[in-house]
This record gives sequence, structure tokens and C-alpha cells, in this order.
Amino acid sequence: MKKIGAALFGNKSLEVREFPDLEPGLNEVLIEVKAAGICGSDLHFYRSSPEELGARYGKIVGHEPAGIVIQTGNAVSKFKVGDRVTVNHTLGCGHCQYCHQGETVLCPTGKGMALADAGANTNVLKLPENTCLELPENISFEDGTFIACTGATAYNAVQQLRDQAVRNVVVFGLGPVGLSAILLLEKMGINAVGIDPIKSRRDFASSIGCRKIGDFTETEGLIKLSPNPEGFCGSIETSGASNAQSQAIDVLRPKGIAIYLGLSKGVPSISPEQFIHKQIRLQGSKVLPSWAAVEMMNFMQESNFSFEQLIREKIPLQRAAEAFEMFESGMSGKFILLPN
Ligand SMILES: [Zn+2]
Ligand SMILES: [Zn+2]
Repeated sequence: MKKIGAALFGNKSLEVREFPDLEPGLNEVLIEVKAAGICGSDLHFYRSSPEELGARYGKIVGHEPAGIVIQTGNAVSKFKVGDRVTVNHTLGCGHCQYCHQGETVLCPTGKGMALADAGANTNVLKLPENTCLELPENISFEDGTFIACTGATAYNAVQQLRDQAVRNVVVFGLGPVGLSAILLLEKMGINAVGIDPIKSRRDFASSIGCRKIGDFTETEGLIKLSPNPEGFCGSIETSGASNAQSQAIDVLRPKGIAIYLGLSKGVPSISPEQFIHKQIRLQGSKVLPSWAAVEMMNFMQESNFSFEQLIREKIPLQRAAEAFEMFESGMSGKFILLPN
């Protein structure tokens, strides 16, 4: 199969080009990509200048693939040709203490898929077998892309609140991660309120069945959206906006938990006084470790849960530039590339 992929050249320039053919190494598999999600973090590189792209210049981005194994290296033991797979997109070194625990996301040397020449926005992908996860027959390739990043990031946050028996959660930001979190919370029977200042995002959230959606407003107004007048017991901050980072604490009742996922420009936004007096816990969170991604797939099967309602458009890989333009313009929902 001739490899083609969507490569970035800086300042929103993206071209679908041919790349050299791939040959799997000993412990590697070749995957025919059936679907690849565009992530908010891909937009960051899409907007970067050629200088900012650095080693990513001319490379294929993306880290949310799902597909079928079409070739295996000689030492591969876990997969065979024809297996359906998704990935844990954090490629660790494989031998540090974090990688041994399956926490590749904490690996100090772990680089992203693009830097490893394994960007997902392509028709055929070469990956180490230990990065791949078996995708059950009854989970679609589209859902498989969510398990690679967006859905798994949301699930990790939701699961941490669920472990603390949190019943009442506010989610800041209605991008794909925030929407995923709300759908998961609702499926688990946990009260979820979604907040976003952009009307089209709120409208999209309502259109896919999110029941409690509010505008971003002052703290008092947000607390009024909580069934408990003291405030919410948990918050999930996905937007990275400074004012939301601060309110994710202020809307909590005493001993509440604030989970932060949204990356920002690093502008200081909170002060300890906000969480000392109410004894609030702050928790940073990223994508799931592999073992927990398997647990998440079990949850999806047992509760008949799908992320597909979040998909705004499925677009052929050849039209990747158009897909990035639409996503970049702020359109709500998830964009999925279909390479084959
Ligand atoms: Zn992602
Ligand atoms: Zn490592």
C-alpha cells in the first residue's frame, strides 16, 4: 500500500503527500488506518510557524488512529494480520519505572507519535506492538479513535471523580473532551452541567443530548446551576482558559475535587487561598494508561456506550486540509479522517 499522509508545513499549511513505503521492524506492526480523529492538540501544531514546528516540520501529525493489522514483524506475538486495533498514543521508552507500570504518559523520554514518524493522519501506520490495543468487534473504528485520546482523557477524569463517589459535576469547555466527559457522566448516572461561553458549542451540546448546559458567567450564577446550594462536588476543566481554571475551584463545595485537563499558555490563574479554606483537592490528569483503556472498553461494551454522537464530520484523508480548516474555525464536535 502506497503511504500517503497529511503533513504540516507551518502557519496552517497542510498537504496530503506520498511518503516512503513502510517495513515493520521485529516488534512492530503495520496498521491500515480506518479512522483517525483530529485532536485539539493537532490544531496547536497546525497554527504553529515553520520554526515552531521544528522537528515536526513536514511530518504527519495525529495520534488518534484505529484500524486493522496488515503486517507483523518477526517477533510480534500479540497481534496477527486482520486484528482490529486502537492505540495508547503515548509512546514510552518501554523500560523506565513508569513504562513498566503502563503509565507511558509519565515517561520522561516518551515522545509523541509525530516525532516518532508515526503520525496517525495517514492510510498506513507503523507502530510498536506494545502501543496497540485490541479493539473488540462490537466497538467501531470511530469509537476506537476516541479510545486513543479524546475519550480516554475524559474517561480518566470522570473515573477519578467516580472513585471518590462524586455525584454532581460541572464541566468547563464543550470541545470534544468536555462533551465526552458529559456523555460519560450522564451514562454513569452522575449529574453533569456543561459550561461554555460560545453559543454554537452550547447548541451543539444540546443537540447531541447533553441535558444541562449553561453559559459561562460569574461564580454565583454557576453555583445556582448546582442541585446543592453549597456548590458542585467535582469540576473538570477542559478549556485551558484562565477564568475557567479559577472558577473550577470557586464553584466547588468544601472538600470538592477539581480536575484539570485543559492546556493553557501558562498564565497564572489561581491562588492557594481559593482552595485552602474549603480544603479543595486539585488534580492534574491526562490520557489513560493502557490497562485502564481496556477497562474503559469493557465499560463501553457493558453499558452500550458510544462516542459517535460527538462526530461532526467524517472526511476523506485527501480532504484533510478542509477538515483542519473547519475544526480550526471553532466548529463544535469531533472531526474524523477516513483514509481508506
Ligand atoms: Zn488527542
Ligand atoms: Zn519510559
